[in-house]
Amino acid sequence: MFDKKRLQERMNAHAAVSFGRTLKELNARESHIAFSKAIMEEVVPLWTATREKQEGKKKACYFSAEFLMGRALGNNLMNLGINDEAREVLGGMGLDINDIEEAEEDAGLGNGGLGRLAACFLDSGASLGYPLNGYGIRYEYGIFKQSIKDGAQVEEGDNWLEYGDPWSVRRLDEAVEVSFFDGPVLAVPYDTPVIGYGGKTVNTLRLWKAEALKPFGFKEFNDEDYEGSVREKNNAETITKVLYPNDCTDKGKLLRLRQQYFFVSASLQDILAKHLENGFSLESFPDYHAIQLNDTHPAVAVPELMRLLTEVHGMDWDEAFDITRRTLAYTNHTILAEALEQWPVRLYRKLLPGIYGIISKIDRQLQSDLRSKGIRGKAQDRYRILLGGSVKMAWLSIYGTHSTNGVAELHTELLKETELRHWYDIYPERFNNKTNGITQRRWLKMSNPELSALVTELLGTDGWITDLDLLKGLRGYTDDANVLERLNEIKRVKKVQLAEHIRKVEGIEIDPDSIFDIQIKRLHEYKRQLLNAFHILDLYYRIKEGDAENITPRTFIFGAKAAPGYKRAKGIIKYINEIASLVNSDPETKGKLKVVFVTNYRVSYAEKLFPAADISEQISTAGKEASGTGNMKFMLNGAPTIGTLDGANIEIVEESGEENNFIFGLKVDEIEDMKETYDPHVPYLEVPGLKRVVDSLIDGTFNDGGTGAFRELHDSLLKGASWHKPDNYFILADFASYREAQEEVGKVFKDRLSFAGKCLMNISGAGKFSSDRTIREYANEIWNLEN
Ligand SMILES: *Cc1c(COP(=O)(O)O)cnc(C)c1O
Repeated sequence: MFDKKRLQERMNAHAAVSFGRTLKELNARESHIAFSKAIMEEVVPLWTATREKQEGKKKACYFSAEFLMGRALGNNLMNLGINDEAREVLGGMGLDINDIEEAEEDAGLGNGGLGRLAACFLDSGASLGYPLNGYGIRYEYGIFKQSIKDGAQVEEGDNWLEYGDPWSVRRLDEAVEVSFFDGPVLAVPYDTPVIGYGGKTVNTLRLWKAEALKPFGFKEFNDEDYEGSVREKNNAETITKVLYPNDCTDKGKLLRLRQQYFFVSASLQDILAKHLENGFSLESFPDYHAIQLNDTHPAVAVPELMRLLTEVHGMDWDEAFDITRRTLAYTNHTILAEALEQWPVRLYRKLLPGIYGIISKIDRQLQSDLRSKGIRGKAQDRYRILLGGSVKMAWLSIYGTHSTNGVAELHTELLKETELRHWYDIYPERFNNKTNGITQRRWLKMSNPELSALVTELLGTDGWITDLDLLKGLRGYTDDANVLERLNEIKRVKKVQLAEHIRKVEGIEIDPDSIFDIQIKRLHEYKRQLLNAFHILDLYYRIKEGDAENITPRTFIFGAKAAPGYKRAKGIIKYINEIASLVNSDPETKGKLKVVFVTNYRVSYAEKLFPAADISEQISTAGKEASGTGNMKFMLNGAPTIGTLDGANIEIVEESGEENNFIFGLKVDEIEDMKETYDPHVPYLEVPGLKRVVDSLIDGTFNDGGTGAFRELHDSLLKGASWHKPDNYFILADFASYREAQEEVGKVFKDRLSFAGKCLMNISGAGKFSSDRTIREYANEIWNLEN
């Protein structure tokens, strides 16, 4: 049982032992550490109990190069069910729990959606009582910290471990060696407890840190070769130094390949060794383990498991391949052909010669399988894992596993029809869909306690916390004016809280009575932040011309990081900020229009933004967004979507009603039909107002600081570039339709009760998008796992 006095004592002890001071003398970050360590002491017995309970049971292992966990403290207190007690204990010591929670650095070990999905999955796995553990990399520096200088993105290293990480334990006793062509390194696991809701199951996130086998050269040091004495240490530690801030195409980076093999090899060695230590046979490995590959980043698991089974344990090739395939499963996250991961053979051969040999053998086996299916000669090329000097990680993943899943219905259908069609033709039984989800614990209960309380009151139960389908019970209130008014009041409270935060950290005032129209996600051309920006500028000009007399006041909020090497994305950030300074400094549009680009968008900021949104911007080019999960967080917090029929937006609209959202734009098949003949000059010249905003990129309206970035954006829309057609993402083609949908938003928003009805329909339809549902599907249909 939870004992407040004990917690207080432990906290004092950690203040003394970790910082040599009394609690009163600590700063907020130190207090956070002392408190978290005290909570960790409460968790460890539960953690041990789970491990013992799960012994001998089948486990699922989620392999992911990214886990975007965000902050742990608030989530852990909630899942342990000791929020109120913690507040009391801290209060009694003169500390404010909110200050302590705000002092925590995000664990930002991921780029965006893919990494956050992994984090939501772990929460659902533990909350449902599944033995589901995460395996990844303990980056010393996570996703970079973003600041904005003169409107442009500036990156800085994210030193998230500066004050230590109270939530992980170093398990040197379970370290393993990983070998590269230039020698072995030590992989040291750091384990973090993943506490399920209710505290009954505590699973593990195991992240590997690279270290030198011999971290210090005593002889070199004595010989006054100081650099030489730490060379091995520095080289080894470089492997897990930093997360690649890259969520689009993978640049051929030797270090990234090292990272992939490093964590996959360490994880497989660890899992296999424990399996054998427990007295199980090699043959039974797939009966006790299901390994899910989160995209192709861990695809080297296929040849690595083959290596361990055949070369280390002496199993024959065919049986080993059968075991490998039955153990592994693959999740595809993209339809962008250019984003399918490939590696130059040259790099593979150099870094991992043995693994390369196994991949060659797998490729030869593939050819023989294809022959037996009547696919010969050139017709084999589109399947070949090794071809044209590249290793095709997606083909390796499909061929070497028993399951390939997409992440939304549309995405899976498109995979089967286009990019992966040839694979679907020969292995239809391997393909399946697992529509993504989000955890309602973090994204509703924790980040929006006000709305949570209303939902619980209306449903007469808090059962939705573990059974989100219960939200359907809210349907009965869509005509209840009293409930709709309360919903609006809660939204206003969340908007006031966000406004206060934005005033504090960005120094900008925003009006909680304006529409909060929010687009938060990684900056990418296909996500079309530029379409949003063009519409804002058009609206601005129309207001100035007296053309938009009775518009509903709007605050447009953006949050996005651009990959540091992605020039065009950075140009778009600069452009949005130029529009913001123009609009926000104009007395004529004051009170009507405001634009805010919030800096350093991340999980902890997201928790403040989603609950405060009136409108969710999901405006990707149809067919390009595999699923999206931000769209689900908005929906759950009662924001209707303005969006295209793309990714999970389609399922969101199915669940909440098209009439309760603002759908616009070209559909996948329409784009398919017109893409050969599309000329963006047509909308550019014919859609009223469009030329004016597009030309703002080059006519001197804005200043890109002499970088040429705005001219380049303009060219990308109208001239194209060697590597793509003009307006590759159909921004100009969709502009008119988007503007119309936005007009509709403004109109409907004025009828506050009718708008609230749409919000409620979104909340009540969000049940499907719980990651609990997703994880149950993985467990039942791919992993054959019991809870
Ligand atoms: C949910 C989330 C994402 C994914 O957003 P999309 O709109 O689905 O791309 C990215 N980053 C953070 C911090 C998130 O919480």
